[in-house]
Amino acid sequence: MLIADLSHFEGADPDRHPAAWRLAEYLRAIVCGATSIPTDRRLNSGLRCRRRPGRQPCAGYLQIVRQEEPPHIHWWCGNCDDAGLISGWQHSAWDLRPPRSFDEPLLGVDLLPEEDSGSGDRRFESSPPSQFNSC
Ligand SMILES: [Zn+2]
Repeated sequence: MLIADLSHFEGADPDRHPAAWRLAEYLRAIVCGATSIPTDRRLNSGLRCRRRPGRQPCAGYLQIVRQEEPPHIHWWCGNCDDAGLISGWQHSAWDLRPPRSFDEPLLGVDLLPEEDSGSGDRRFESSPPSQFNSC
């Protein structure tokens, strides 16, 4: 099992440390997947396994579960025995968790006063997300 702290890969340079960079990118993609779903649910991700048994790519895809306490991300291949645990991912650029509970409304919506009483149109304004990350 690969046990990794994502914060240890900060500053990894793709030219000077290509192997570390590839592993960091692999782990970052897992963190993006894990933080895009609620905790304690399993994500059947589209991420391919990194293993190459017999120099052939493993046909498996990663299964991912994120737990709240302690904040660990567990991942494993659905086809081989490759697996890992990721810590140190919270509040990184790859942490896609929304800044709210999943039980709350997705967007705040405010009803604006009608400008033209004859139109009958109601205009809505939604609040932009206060956090925006990308992979
Ligand atoms: Zn595999």
